Amino acid sequence: MSTQRVVIITGGGRGIGAATAQLFAKEGYAVCINYKSNSESANRLAQTIKADGGQCITVQADVSCEDDVIRMFSTVDKELGTLSVLVNNAGMLKTQSRLEDMTADRINSILVNNVTSYFLCCREAVKRMSTRHGGVGGVIVNVSSGAARSGSPNEYIDYAASKGAIDTLTKGLSLEVAAEGIRVNCVRPGLIHTDMHADGGEPERIERLKDVIPLKRGGQPAEVAEAIYWLASEKSSFSTGNYLDLAGGL
Ligand code: NAP
Repeated sequence: MSTQRVVIITGGGRGIGAATAQLFAKEGYAVCINYKSNSESANRLAQTIKADGGQCITVQADVSCEDDVIRMFSTVDKELGTLSVLVNNAGMLKTQSRLEDMTADRINSILVNNVTSYFLCCREAVKRMSTRHGGVGGVIVNVSSGAARSGSPNEYIDYAASKGAIDTLTKGLSLEVAAEGIRVNCVRPGLIHTDMHADGGEPERIERLKDVIPLKRGGQPAEVAEAIYWLASEKSSFSTGNYLDLAGGL
């Protein structure tokens, strides 16, 4: 087993998570790339990282499912070693809709997928990192969204509210574990070029909205990855319970 720093990136096979996995691997971390169903994308990324001399494993786990989360963390314990960083990134949204057309099934599935999952992964990370449990500390970075501030009217208030919950989780947990060697922060990306907008039914969403972004463009996953990496690094050692907005000024 190596003495490398170890990071788990949920939803690490595509989009922001994949860019984050590549950056952490380049910086010398052993990376757990978690994915839910797109094994092809996760395995392709793992091959690229290994070809560049990095260390990584892929772990299929639905992070909204408690048993899967427990299995993922124990796989990392066994195969990579002591966890240093958790990046809670896995998330999803549904087709753009007004609230009066949302079913309970839709709302519940967004909340379980985007909120319960972050709580479960934080729980497993804290059990391993906290000095209260014999750990040596660590860092958690949650990927929230600018939607937590905008509310995403006419598109996905359910998704926006799930991200509001992540802001509150970040604040509460950061204070709960601050004296136990763990820092907890979050990034709040704005419009980033990934597959997520197509999942909402509008692949060209950023094109439609880019004129209202002060920087006049969408962001790239690699730009979000840099902020996540900074929050995970010692360079942000006095930061906890904070939100870093990455929205081109929006
Ligand atoms: P993406 O390209 O659609 O990727 C989403 C990733 O999450 C995929 O790897 C997917 O796994 C994984 N995932 C979803 N549900 C999961 C679950 N239950 N268990 C495990 N993995 C799961 O999206 P993205 O844009 O990179 O989004 C990453 C994060 O950034 C999300 O939390 C999102 O809300 C947030 N965000 C994105 C934007 C944006 O404009 N793109 C803006 C603000 C915030 P599979 O590959 O197996 O499907």
